[in-house]
Amino acid sequence: MFIVSLNLACKFAAVLIGRTALGPAFALWFAPDVLLAYHLFFPNAQGLLRIHSRFTTTAREVWLTIDDGPDPTDTPRILALLAAHRARATFFLIGKNATEHPALLRAIAAAGHEIGHHTQTHPLYSFWCARPARLHRELTAGFSSFAVADIRPTRFRSPAGIKNIWLKSALTAHGLTCVGWSARGLERRYRDPAIVAQVVTRGLKPGAILLLHEGPRVPAPIRVEAIRLVLENLTAQGYRCVLPTAAQLPR
Ligand SMILES: [Zn+2]
Repeated sequence: MFIVSLNLACKFAAVLIGRTALGPAFALWFAPDVLLAYHLFFPNAQGLLRIHSRFTTTAREVWLTIDDGPDPTDTPRILALLAAHRARATFFLIGKNATEHPALLRAIAAAGHEIGHHTQTHPLYSFWCARPARLHRELTAGFSSFAVADIRPTRFRSPAGIKNIWLKSALTAHGLTCVGWSARGLERRYRDPAIVAQVVTRGLKPGAILLLHEGPRVPAPIRVEAIRLVLENLTAQGYRCVLPTAAQLPR
């Protein structure tokens, strides 16, 4: 909350000096907003809460995370690919999708993968300004959706990595740890599975957290194919996909 307190303090100071020094008052009023916006919208910015963008390891291992499922077309194919590569992954699922496809929820868990919380409705454009009650509803509704398979996630990823000034307290109250990433595919920007896979796996280091997506928001030529190529690249480079323990995500 330091960022928010600083913002309010600067605004108060701007009001105090506004009559005698309009220019500095203007700067004092708006500069903290830029800082706050950075920490709200820059995915791995740490100013509002601790976000894990790597995990601790010396072995050639990475954490593969797949967002926005489950999806009836993609999830079964991804599970088959992961099994073929003996890879484990965390699926950050949208609660609403999980409610529509409970069998997929169970299949992901039964295959030994982790299910993470990715909100109930994925409110991409309103997440940054959601009030505490709305955040609470997103989290509790998501937990209810995952509970049909007796699953209670302990890890959370916000929509597109966007934060909220109330997010830290909301996650703490629900026992959730916030996970970012060290490389992501940006599937909708590149629109070529080979480029997506290259972006995700270039400059790879042990402890990297890789982000890819499933579902209809991923362009058709990339769906699943990018994940297949990433797994092949990782195998070729001698990397294993593992699920880090809590101890490997230092606070
Ligand atoms: Zn998402």
